[in-house]
Amino acid sequence: MPDIESEMKYQKLVELYETMDSTTKRLEKTAILADFLNMVGDQDPKNLAVITLLSLGRIFPTWSEEELGIGSKLLMKAISLVVGVTIEEVEDQIRDSGDIGSASQELFQRKVQSTLFTRALTINKVHENLVKIADISGGRSQNKKLEILRELLSSASPHEAKYITRTVLEQLRVGVGEGTLKDAISQAFDIPKEVVERAHMLTNDLGLVAEVAREQGIVGLKKLTLKPGKPVKPMLAQLSPGYKDSIREMGYALCETKYDGIRVQIHCKDDEINIFTRRLENISPAVPEIADYIKKAIKPFDFIVEGEIIVTKEGKPISFQYILQRVRRKYDIERLRKEIPLTLYLFDVLYYKKPTLDEPLKDRRNLLEQIVQILPGKLELSKQVKVTPETSQKALDLFNQSIEEGHEGLMIKDPNAPYTPGLRGKKMLKWKATPETLDLVVVGGTYGIGKRAHLIGSFLLALRDENNGLKTLAHVATGLDDKTLLELGEISESLITRKVGRKVDMIPSIIMEVAFSEIVKSPEYESGYSLRFPVVKRIRKDISIDDIDTMDRVASIYQNMKII
Ligand code: ATP
Repeated sequence: MPDIESEMKYQKLVELYETMDSTTKRLEKTAILADFLNMVGDQDPKNLAVITLLSLGRIFPTWSEEELGIGSKLLMKAISLVVGVTIEEVEDQIRDSGDIGSASQELFQRKVQSTLFTRALTINKVHENLVKIADISGGRSQNKKLEILRELLSSASPHEAKYITRTVLEQLRVGVGEGTLKDAISQAFDIPKEVVERAHMLTNDLGLVAEVAREQGIVGLKKLTLKPGKPVKPMLAQLSPGYKDSIREMGYALCETKYDGIRVQIHCKDDEINIFTRRLENISPAVPEIADYIKKAIKPFDFIVEGEIIVTKEGKPISFQYILQRVRRKYDIERLRKEIPLTLYLFDVLYYKKPTLDEPLKDRRNLLEQIVQILPGKLELSKQVKVTPETSQKALDLFNQSIEEGHEGLMIKDPNAPYTPGLRGKKMLKWKATPETLDLVVVGGTYGIGKRAHLIGSFLLALRDENNGLKTLAHVATGLDDKTLLELGEISESLITRKVGRKVDMIPSIIMEVAFSEIVKSPEYESGYSLRFPVVKRIRKDISIDDIDTMDRVASIYQNMKII
């Protein structure tokens, strides 16, 4: 039996959250967090990993597929049961307080007057219960989750309830992101930032990084590497400022067709194949033929390869939207497999019997060519040409050919660059024929009128600011067909946190790719900018809220537009 008395109390974590919330300065937040990690390292080292993740409001490392699966409705029900009020009263309180955490604190405050707490909650108890909730699946799972949540919240003080509820919804709102936590780990255990950064890139687990930093220092962190079975964030591309300049800067370049589908990272470990999206979601069951192709094409050593899956009909790529139908699908997979056939274009290898990501791209490509047996129309390698500044016409030819064949454009890659997970840099550039778009998250909306009064018809969109917060940028009401509007209507209902008249606030979750004619300065939105003629191009279920566009990008497009 663990010694409950000596375990760290959840109240300590609550104090951390409150102190971090009390300042907007990033350096102060970092220092507070660094002190806290140090203290945990001294007093409760075996729980350092868990507590580090909780300091960000997370239960599982980013690579993990586990999730709590609790929506705001279920959480409101748990609160109403514990506090002894109706769900409507909980909703009213959320409207008044602005978020579910503050509302819980308020409601629990009222309850406190009539209850006496017997034992303080420990961090372990909170963590164990949340893990238990994630483990529940199958019949009556919502009821079982509700029961555990209810038990947990019944032992919570008002302050604790505020943060437990926010953690459950993955909305901690204390202005701390992965960047601040990485800085804090580096400060707390005296490790150079780049070492922490790299260990994080390769493991996607800041809990583990903190633990190894404390126990084994730089040497231990440098030994951490990627492992088949645990997805890493993909290396991302910047827009090429012009193909000739880009090729000249690289010396020579490997140019490839840019396919417009879905990025996948395919892991093979002990013969088992798992396919992850850019958001590190495991989509293997939805695309069984991809695993079949991979088994035929690559010998079953442990490996990680990367590529783009597209949908083709009679050899031609067809709309990106089809691929989402495949990837999201849980049933009828065999039928869809025939109706919407997939082609995989592989373009990188990150691991083959050992990590290969530090080798230059040209060597990784050679390796890929050696280990992959092409299956025409099913599994191929990305079309690639080597282009020097003198032969830059070849890049233009491949770009034109790509567009003609219905693909998206050209990738321009530095042959000497290692693979850098999660980074968007100059070593991999993209050149697309279509104009700029922005990926933005929906934070609110307005119901329609008349026949459409039951549907949100206009969505309020936000981008990410320098401090990892969200700032509104525009409303968008065009570009969505009726079917998508209906679907969005259903999803939106579970995300609404507040209703005033026809307007609603929503938990940021739905991501839209939006085209526009111009970016203008505007005091109407928190970002200080606005979009003219915004149109939704598609709903992006393949990226996460961490990947949406930033203030920096909008400011830079604004500047460029002014120049043109
Ligand atoms: P976009 O909307 O332009 O695809 P994004 O934000 O999804 O942008 P970026 O990293 O900016 O992703 O663009 C590169 C993307 O292009 C990759 O993530 C990958 O999905 C896709 N892609 C298509 N063909 C290739 C290729 N040959 N090599 C690398 N990436 C490719």
